[in-house]
Amino acid sequence: MTATAAASALLDVEGLRKFFTVRRGFPNPRTITVRALDGVSFSVRPGEAFGLVGESGCGKSTAGRAVLRLIEPDEGAIRFHGKDVRALDRGALRALRRKMQIVFQDPYASLNPKRLIGKTLAEPMQVHGLAKGAALAERVRALLDEVGLPADAAGRYPHEFSGGQRQRIGIARALSVEPELVIADEPVSALDVSIQAQVLLLLRGLQQRRGLSYVFVSHDLGVVRWFCQAVAVMYLGRIVERGPLPAMFDEPLHPYTKALRGASPVPDPRARVTMMRIEGEVPSAASPPPGCHFHPRCPHAMERCRVEYPAWKELGQGRGVACHLFDE
Ligand code: SF4
Repeated sequence: MTATAAASALLDVEGLRKFFTVRRGFPNPRTITVRALDGVSFSVRPGEAFGLVGESGCGKSTAGRAVLRLIEPDEGAIRFHGKDVRALDRGALRALRRKMQIVFQDPYASLNPKRLIGKTLAEPMQVHGLAKGAALAERVRALLDEVGLPADAAGRYPHEFSGGQRQRIGIARALSVEPELVIADEPVSALDVSIQAQVLLLLRGLQQRRGLSYVFVSHDLGVVRWFCQAVAVMYLGRIVERGPLPAMFDEPLHPYTKALRGASPVPDPRARVTMMRIEGEVPSAASPPPGCHFHPRCPHAMERCRVEYPAWKELGQGRGVACHLFDE
């Protein structure tokens, strides 16, 4: 990332690191360190949908949550409009969270089952002093309309809605405080394919109408290719390739991106593309292989790949890669 690109970014993440210590093993548990994020850097421009993609356990959801400080990073910088998010105290962070919202994979788990939808949508606006009285009720109605739900949804409970409708409620709740950036954490992966397309079209419409930006966390390359304008591919806590879409998936450089892309990407969220099977299991982030973490599964692995992690290389036009095949 050049200094100019970082300066024009809505969100700029640099060198983000998060290690968790966990106790594992029976009957003699031992403490191990899981390297969930190991120096992750990316930027999101205003109005852009930026994808974070990779297999389960690669750190993409942790990265999304760390941006909001729902998980506190150990190291690294997070700048929103150039402001250092990690330096904010609780009050300033709460104010900033109005501008950065999250939509979760499981909308049911994130909605209070005993709270009417109208109250769920009204509360964030009350907390941030955005509306009250009749104006508040009108804003709730407008939000429901914007996400394609009837006005009487305000007087109902979460269990009365389908999975797709609940995700619309989760989106409406995020929109209620007029954010500029939404972290969408696998927002459609719990939904049926036909419903996925409807929710993605809703999210894209909001991007166009409101100028909303997204960090779009997903394991589904077909969805990311259709929805996002740029993407970073993660593997075991690190970004291995980054670039604009669709160019990066049309001509991937990193062997892992090539393997993920599969045989035929389909630029339509209604035609689900599942990941191609890659030889071997994903190694544990608690004990990543030395050198390039991908080397045990890489068909191009060389001797140096087993001992030396490849440095990040900027290739111009927003593209970058970490692979010894691109060393000078
Ligand atoms: Fe494969 Fe080596 Fe590149 Fe890693 S650095 S992806 S092992 S060629």
